[in-house]
Amino acid sequence: MEIARNKVVTFHYVLTDENGERIESSEEKGRPAAYLHGRNNLLPGLEAELQGKRAGDQLKVTVPPELGYGLRIDDAVKRVPIKHLVRPGKLSVGKVVTVNTTAGPRPATVTKVGRFNVDVDFNHPLAGKTLVFDVKILDVRDATDEEIAHGHAHGPGGHEHA
Ligand code: ZN
Repeated sequence: MEIARNKVVTFHYVLTDENGERIESSEEKGRPAAYLHGRNNLLPGLEAELQGKRAGDQLKVTVPPELGYGLRIDDAVKRVPIKHLVRPGKLSVGKVVTVNTTAGPRPATVTKVGRFNVDVDFNHPLAGKTLVFDVKILDVRDATDEEIAHGHAHGPGGHEHA
């Protein structure tokens, strides 16, 4: 079965940056990833390359920032009061925190910790990076009616409803 809109795809992947530095892998997460194809559940640059592939296929996909997590925005580093963080806990540089902003809660990475304020970077940690995915497709199946209605895959590696 070929990967097309409304197929559920299960795959293993290793993600590295353009210098070969390992970022993450599905093995480390303990199980393959699963997603519903053609419904914006995957980075656009990766999803486009998976179209038409089958179980057993292996491929290497290079995703430029514009088709990945976007370009880095230099002025996305802001100083915010610690009291604007959701459950800040113990703060350190590199920690990902949730900041209450006027546009709602948003994730950000701490770049500097002060007594009452922190500097946080609202860029996605992978923004500005060219990403290289080594993908092995394990399974391609038809989505259930429920998955199509929800717009995402269910079951292991997919969306787990509470
Ligand atoms: Zn669902």
